[in-house]
Amino acid sequence: MSRKKSTVVVIPCDSYDEEKVYLGLKSGLDELGGFKAIVKPEEKILVKPNLLSAAVPEKAVTTHPSVLRAVFRLLSEAGCNNVKTGDSPGHGSCEGAMKLLGLNDETMYGAKLTPMSESVHIDFPEGMTCKEFDFCKEVVESDAIINVCKMKTHALERITGAVKNVYGFICGLKKAAGHVKFPNDTVFARMLADIHRCTHPRLHIMDGIIAMEGNGPGAGTPTPMNVLLVSTDPVALDTVYCYLINLDPEAVPTNSQGCRMGIGTDIEEEIDIILGGRHITKDELFKTYGNGAFDVGREKPKNTFLMKYSGFMTRIARRPAIDKDKCVKCGICVDHCPVPGKAVEFKNGKTSPPVYDYKKCIRCYCCQEMCPKHAIRPVRGLFRRK
Ligand code: SF4
Ligand code: SF4
Repeated sequence: MSRKKSTVVVIPCDSYDEEKVYLGLKSGLDELGGFKAIVKPEEKILVKPNLLSAAVPEKAVTTHPSVLRAVFRLLSEAGCNNVKTGDSPGHGSCEGAMKLLGLNDETMYGAKLTPMSESVHIDFPEGMTCKEFDFCKEVVESDAIINVCKMKTHALERITGAVKNVYGFICGLKKAAGHVKFPNDTVFARMLADIHRCTHPRLHIMDGIIAMEGNGPGAGTPTPMNVLLVSTDPVALDTVYCYLINLDPEAVPTNSQGCRMGIGTDIEEEIDIILGGRHITKDELFKTYGNGAFDVGREKPKNTFLMKYSGFMTRIARRPAIDKDKCVKCGICVDHCPVPGKAVEFKNGKTSPPVYDYKKCIRCYCCQEMCPKHAIRPVRGLFRRK
């Protein structure tokens, strides 16, 4: 018997014009039955954007406000009037990030901004990799979650999309501890899949109108991809993102582990791609909207056993490096390094940039994500560092 396929709707959209985004998203959602098929009006709904840090929309660090406003408008039209929105950014506050996007309670079609700053401990005995979480209170209190992610690159997981975006459910600085507990791309991806298994977001919407390539998720280059993606399957959605940038979906741990742990599928035959009301192949999709030159890490996940015991593998592995010319010696990277005893530290007070101890470094890239001057990027171990 053939398995039920996962549908991913591709919505062409070449600008953040509010009406264009709204009409595009409306028609895309109609392919899935509209919001009425996904949420009930009386439910408490949490809309979860990607608010990595406070940044203007043009930087492509956050979900664009036009996309969020279209989601709020459509929810309002579906009769949902108990809608909250927020994220737990890695640095700074949710309110600060929303302010730079021009979003507040007056501009969100009745949705209310919520701080996502209070933590609730949850036991999850069914967890395959993680059996407890410290979620933001709003995640636990909601009936339904709508995940509105951003199409970006990610130093640890290659890409950040629908699967990775749920890490913002973990409250504040508790996120750093998660990197120590799940210290490589594969186990970290498995922990993310457990978050999905625990919270079951109902719908995933990806803002890929202007994506981020290169040194993502906070310091990359905005690049037009001119699409929105919508699906109830986070792995299938991220897999279609991979098709668009000609990246092997199995090179992305959140896809491979997400598929193995049953939160979705990255298998081509199990994904229905819909564009303009008709089914298309991944090759047809790439021909029209693909960007094979998209700057993203394309290496497959390393065998973690080999990484641990092979000195050579460890030496050539990617690692964060600081560009001394860009560094302003603020110390934010040091503050955010989750490793006990710190794997990046100032050696002579703040007279020169911090220095890495790669024997301690778990390559979580929290330092790279948080550096406000974009001075940190992943490099190959054998390359000379500045
Ligand atoms: S966060 Fe960036 S700018 Fe600040 S000390 Fe670290 S590398 Fe330098
Ligand atoms: S130095 Fe950076 S990449 Fe290494 S463990 Fe610390 S935060 Fe993570």
